[in-house]
Parts: sequence; C-alpha cells; structure tokens
Amino acid sequence: MNIHEYQAKALFEKYGVPVPKGAAATTPEEFTNALSQLPEGPTMVKSQIHAGGRGKGTFTDGFKGGVKFCKTKHDAKEIAGKMLGNTLVTIQTGPVGRKVQTVYFTVASEIKKEYYLAILLDRATSRPVIVASTEGGVEIEKVAHDTPEKIHKVFVDPAYGLADFQVRDLIFKLGFTGVEAKNAGKLIRSLYNMYWDTDAAMVEVNPLITTPAGDVLALDGKVSFDDNALFRHPEIVALRDLNEEDPKEIAASKYSLSYIALDGNIACLVNGAGLAMSTMDIIKHFGGTPANFLDVGGGASKEQVIAAFKIILGDPNVKGILVNIFGGIMDCNVIAQGIVEAVKEVGLKLPLVVRLEGNNVVAGKATLNQSGLKLVSGDTMADAAQKIVKLVA
Ligand code: ADP
Ligand code: MG
Repeated sequence: MNIHEYQAKALFEKYGVPVPKGAAATTPEEFTNALSQLPEGPTMVKSQIHAGGRGKGTFTDGFKGGVKFCKTKHDAKEIAGKMLGNTLVTIQTGPVGRKVQTVYFTVASEIKKEYYLAILLDRATSRPVIVASTEGGVEIEKVAHDTPEKIHKVFVDPAYGLADFQVRDLIFKLGFTGVEAKNAGKLIRSLYNMYWDTDAAMVEVNPLITTPAGDVLALDGKVSFDDNALFRHPEIVALRDLNEEDPKEIAASKYSLSYIALDGNIACLVNGAGLAMSTMDIIKHFGGTPANFLDVGGGASKEQVIAAFKIILGDPNVKGILVNIFGGIMDCNVIAQGIVEAVKEVGLKLPLVVRLEGNNVVAGKATLNQSGLKLVSGDTMADAAQKIVKLVA
C-alpha cells in the first residue's frame, strides 16, 4: 500500500524526522485555511499523486511542473488552482497520467545540498538496507547506472537493529561533518525506527537536504507498506487513498482476491499464482493477450467466485473469459456454482471457456452442464486456451 507525500511527512514528524511545515487541501475552499497555517514567504505547491517525477511532470492541459516554487502564499494559491483537478503526467504515471485530487503547500526551504536516502528490504540478504547518496534530487536509477560508486549501502541485522557505527559510517561516506553530521545521524535513526515500526516496504527521501543553517530535512517522502502486515496497523490502513487505486483491485481486495489488470482482452479466472502465470503464457502462446488475471486462491468460497466473476465482467476491455481451475484444496464444484450464480445475477454476453480439473471435478462439470449456461468446455489447458483465443478473434 502506498501513501501520499503529505501523509508520509506527517509520519516522519511523528518519528522525529524533520520536514518543512506544510498543509494539504482537497478543494479550492480549503486553500486559504491550509495556507493560513504556513508563514508568509516562499512556498512550494506540490501535487499529491502516488507517483514520482512530479517536479519534471507536465499536466495534460500543457501546464508544466507538478511541484512549483512560489515567491508568496498568494502566488501559491493561484498555482494550486491550476493543479487541483488537473491530470499530471510524469515518467512514473504512464501516458494517461493521474488526476490531482490533493495539493500540498509547504514552506520552501533554502537548499545547500541535495542527498538521496532510502530504506527498503534487500531480498538477497533478507535484511533491511539503507541506501544513500550524495547525488540527490535526480533519478537514483541513473546515478546507480552511471556512477555506482556514489551509492552507499548499509545492511542492518534485524536481530541487532541499526548499530551506531553503521550510522557513523554512512555519515562519513556522505561527507557530513559538525552539526550537519549530528542532525543527519538523528534523522537516519528516526527514519529507520519509522521503517521498522510501521512495517514499511520502502521509505524513500529524495531529496534529503542540508540548509545553510545546518539543518537536515526530508523535502520529499515516498512510503509504501507491506500489505501482509497491514492487519496490525489500522492507523496506516486509514491513510489509504482509494482515488489512487484501480476500482477493480479495490473490489478484489475486499473479497481477498488478487486481481491484476493487463492490457489484452481475455480475462483469466484461475486459482494460484503459478497457474495464473502459466495460463497467461499459454494464451500468449496461442496468439491471444490476457486482459487481467484474477486469482481466487486455494480455498475460495462461492461468494468470492461470484465477486470475481462480477469484477471480470465489469471490465469493458474483456472480450472473452477463460476459467482455468486445478482443484487441489479448491473444490471444482464451488467454482462451478459460483460461475452459475454470478451469470444468473449479471448475465453473460461474452464467450466463456471453462477448464476444470482435480478435486470434485465430476460434480463441477455436472453443475455447469445442468445450468444450461452457454459455455465451451476445454479438456486441457492448451485446448481451453486455443478455444478462447479463437472465440475472441
Ligand atoms: P518529485 O520527486 O515527485 O519530483 P519532489 O518533492 O522531490 O517531487 O520535488 C521536486 C524538487 O522540488 C525537489 O528535488 C526539490 O529540488 C524541490 N522541492 C521540493 N520540495 C521543496 C521544498 N519544500 N523546498 C524547496 N524545494 C523543494
Ligand atoms: Mg523527489
């Protein structure tokens, strides 16, 4: 799960990571109130979307910059009016862009130098890793590619936690001295505490800055959380912004289904991630393209299957459906009953190919046959895939 910059900054503050003062607004009426919380003077206006590269982004009406510097609060209010409701395209949004539904006003800081700092899980070592660089503010991927020696990493043993010598090592490598070193050390430790406590998957600060006064501040904040740990963080779940998510993914998650949208026209209802992958491969192999896959998991109920079918039928790109179930724990008859009920409720105008195999398959096939549903059955995966590809062609 991702959150917005303004929400990340609130968490930063809670953990003692210094950030410039700021306030968010979701309507033009709220601009005045939000700005009244900030001192008069240079103010940044920042589009809040779940994607980076906002500063260099362009709105679909031609307005340039999703992050803007303004000399006064008066100017900031005017710029915010241009951003709110407008669609911002950045290198991370794809060409359709994202509609800006929240803007964030924040004090413009005086920047002495920009750095990069992130904490994430390193899968190779199964440890949290702190990644830092003196080359902040720019694309870190480019730094990693062109000048990998400028990227510093510290691997944290989860049993011992972040050690003081590791923080000092990082500060030395980044070239901090004096009061900056002290402030940076505190900030890194606070950020690590936040990463750890909140079960974050990644915390990225780009840029982290120093000011002429010796302060070290987080000017940007990108935070994502481990979905599997959300059950123990209701206060974080409350930060979820459904405007930023695919409505079909939201519906799927409500029923504990995994739904992934793709750009083809064949919907795939499967059980298990491995079967999902091979189903997509075989559709591709026979010349088709999957529109999505919906994984009902190992032991789905009839209600989940109904929900899954409705989600698929709600996607206008879908021209045909392939149900590919290998029942191990999953009872094929539960799938069959779910399909029949869902179609009864919402109708079916698209070709449907069903391949059932495994646990209770005879009863499942009987349920489908007796339902009078117009469907094509596939005997094997290859057979089923060829049939659906032909039907949508
Ligand atoms: P993004 O990474 O999505 O482009 P950032 O928050 O990093 O968005 O903003 C882009 C750039 O704008 C930053 O690299 C920084 O130079 C500048 N900036 C952002 N926030 C502030 C701020 N509060 N004060 C001064 N400059 C800022
Ligand atoms: Mg940034």
